[in-house]
Parts: sequence; structure tokens; C-alpha cells
Amino acid sequence: VTESLESLRATLGKVSDLRSAIAVLSWDQEVNMPPKGAEGRGQQLATLSAYAHRIFTDPGVGVLLQELSGAIETLSPDDAKLVGVTLYDYDRATRLPESFVSELAMECSKAYEVWVRARKESNFSLFRDSLAQIVDLNRRKAAYIGYKDSPYDALLDEYERGMTAAQLTPLFSDLAKAQSALVERIVASPTQPDVAWTAGPWDERAKWDFTVKVLRDLGFDMDAGRQDKSIHPFSTQFDLYDVRVTTRFSPDELFSGLMGTIHECGHALYSQGHDPADRRTPLMDGASLGIHESQSRMWENMIGRSLPFWEHYLPVLRDSFPDRLRGVAPEDAYAAVNCVERSLIRVEADECTYNLHVILRFEIETGLIEGSLSVDDVPDVWNAKIKEYLGLDVPNDAQGCLQDIHWSHGAFGYFPTYTLGNLYAAQLFETIQDAIPDLWDRVRRGEFATLLTWLRENIHRYGRRKLPVEILKDATGQDPDWRPYLRYLENKYGGLYGLSS
Ligand code: ZN
Repeated sequence: VTESLESLRATLGKVSDLRSAIAVLSWDQEVNMPPKGAEGRGQQLATLSAYAHRIFTDPGVGVLLQELSGAIETLSPDDAKLVGVTLYDYDRATRLPESFVSELAMECSKAYEVWVRARKESNFSLFRDSLAQIVDLNRRKAAYIGYKDSPYDALLDEYERGMTAAQLTPLFSDLAKAQSALVERIVASPTQPDVAWTAGPWDERAKWDFTVKVLRDLGFDMDAGRQDKSIHPFSTQFDLYDVRVTTRFSPDELFSGLMGTIHECGHALYSQGHDPADRRTPLMDGASLGIHESQSRMWENMIGRSLPFWEHYLPVLRDSFPDRLRGVAPEDAYAAVNCVERSLIRVEADECTYNLHVILRFEIETGLIEGSLSVDDVPDVWNAKIKEYLGLDVPNDAQGCLQDIHWSHGAFGYFPTYTLGNLYAAQLFETIQDAIPDLWDRVRRGEFATLLTWLRENIHRYGRRKLPVEILKDATGQDPDWRPYLRYLENKYGGLYGLSS
């Protein structure tokens, strides 16, 4: 058993090294690479991915895993976790025939090109056949992987292990009703924030320095990570001691780059908080995309968009922009960063409307995968749901069903993790406020270490040792519950917009 375990760890270490190399190349592609490098980079990534996949799915690995799971009760709890998680990954990876994997990859890279053109011309009919192909491939993928109730479950499991469409459907439907009713009241309120003072131009250098200060203050280890700029902000991890975040700035906006940094910092703090014993193994990752997103959204929205945060940081920001921020109070910043606006574009949506964008995508996705919705109906259904949830008319496909990259990438089952992140964050945050009664005094002083320590103890260090629902249950003592999120929104936005409850 000891020998098998060593042999397994050696193989997993190699796979992890290759995946880290892939991550470095992908990071470089977004941050540094000149445009003409794209073709060569595509080949490098394809070769390394195929190599990593081949090593991981080698039948020898299967034999080791069978042996070790047969002797699971003789293993230490940590080794048993490693074997269990690796077996889950191995099983998923080997259920898909190699010919199917390359068919899917090829179809997706074609679909991506088609989607870029269709979005540019704002014409869904150009993308229609590609989307139909991708839906069909995903249905086949679900069939290979296997499922009990809905084929969608097999796809969702890749991002949120253990979650099902049957759990999400009623939850999302209730949430959509509650959130669109709240948005109605906010939009109709006579109290609206003044955002005129946030209009640019704002000096980028000063904003960059401010984001670096905030990163350090929140607990991001700059000796084990760095920040760069990219078109689409993201975070990535090459190793426990090398975690990267990116941000972007627009000269017109004071807050967007900063809030983007705090969001990615939330992901990065999770990555920097894993157990060193899990390096070069599949355990060193987030429990799920939803739990990962709960960390980024908690830091961004619950901390970074709170009044105590701005009581601390507005004076700091004023040092960089003394003339422009002279008459601005922390309350003004708090109101401006929480401005609610119904919009067509998901990535620009605020806390109150964001889930509505996600829920309509989930409803369309499940319909496509389960076969109750035809690809031809996507634009009409999309536009009708935007009208129902947000009261807006969609003027064209580019601002409607063609706005997101996910489907062209073949990613079905990914969208719900954004909303789950919001829900998990609010539920965890209620527990945290009980556990740290003087949390807001600490935030007002710019002290975040107590919060970070709580997150490290209850979430970060487990990596993939626990399922998402176990993380939540162990940390809060409750099953997943969406009501804390609604309480949070009602409380915060009720105050900001002078709503009577
Ligand atoms: Zn995120």
C-alpha cells in the first residue's frame, strides 16, 4: 500500500506540474503575449494538455486507485481523501473516449470563432448551427458520464460537485421572484445615489497603487503572488506559493478596477490558504467553483462594498486625489459603489440584478440539455426572460443571447456557480458576523486578519477535502440556504434606497 501510494503521488505530481505549466502559458497569453503568438501558443497548450491527460488517465493509475480504494481503511484520513478525490477525477476523465474529447475540443474552437463573428455582427442565426452542435456534444458527454435524473446534472457536477438541476430549479425560481420584486422597489424609490462625482478621467497610476495597497491590507502575500493587467480580470495559481491576480482600469471609472482587484484577491486568498501538504495533488484546489466564488464575492461585496470599508479607505484614496475627493464623504462612496441599475449585460450587473442574469441562463441551459427547448428559440426566450425579470427590451443579439463566451467554449453547467457563490457568501457571512462580533470595528480600522483567519480555518485549508455542501454545513451548522442572501440585500439596499420593509 505504501508503495502504491508513493507511486500514485509521483504520477499526480507530474500531472500537477504539467497543469501548472499550462496555467503559466495561459496566464502569459492573457497578460504579455503579442497577438501573433496566438497560433503557436494554441499548439503548445494543446500538446501539454494532451500529455497531462494521457499521464493521468493511464490504466496503471486506475490499477493503483483500485488497489488503494480496496485498502482505504488502512490509509490515514488525508491519504484516504486523496484517493477518493483522485478516483472521482479519474472516473470522470476516463468515461469520455479520447475520440470524443478531441471532437469536443475541435468543435468548441470552431464554435468560438463563429461566436466572435456572430457577436460582432449581432446575428444569432450565424451561431445557431454551432450552438446546436455544442448542445448535442454536451448531451453526449452527459450520457458518457452518466446521471440519475437530468443530463444537466452530469455537466453541473464538473463545477459544483453534488448539486443537481432538481435542487436548483425551485430555488432559482423563488430567488428570481424575490430579487426582481426588490429591484422594482429600488428603481421606483425617490432616493437615488449621486454618482456624477465618480465620472473620469482618473489617473491610472494612482488607482494601481491603491489596489496594491488594498491587496496587501487584505492579506494577499506579495512574496507568493503578483498583480498584472489584462483585458478580462482573473486569478490563477501555479503553486501554493505562486498565485496571480489581474485587474483592468478604465480612465472613466473610479471604482471598477478596484472592485475587480478585491474580487480576484478573494479568489487568491483562498488559493494561498490551502494546506501545504496538498501541493502537487488534486486536493490543492477549491471545493467547487461556487465555494471559490463565495470567497471572491464576500470580499468584493460584503467587505469592499460596505460603509466601514469606505470609512477606512476613502481618506486613503483622498490622498491620491486630494482636489477631486475633497468634499466626498464615506457615505457617498458607499452609495456610489452600490448603485443599482437594470442593465442588459451580466458582467456589468450589480448585486441586486446579477442573479437574475444567471437564472435566465440556467433556465435556458437546462431546457437545451434536457431537450425541452430548441436552439432556434433561444433569442426569443432570452428576450422574454429579460423583460420578465428586468423589465428591459433587448435591442439586439449582441446585447442579448450572444454576450457570453461560455456556451461557445462548451461550458454548460458553469453559470449557476456564480449565483451559488453569492448565496454561500451571504450564509457564511451571517455566521462570521456572529463569530467575530466586532468585525465592523476591525474593518473600519483596516484590520482584516481576523476575518482571513476564520476563512482559513473553516474553508481555505480544506481544499477539495470536503464537498461544497460539507464546507457550508460544517462552517455554519446549516444546510445551504438562500434566505441569508435575501436578508442581506433587503437590509443593505433597504437602507441605501430608503425602502420601508
Ligand atoms: Zn470570480
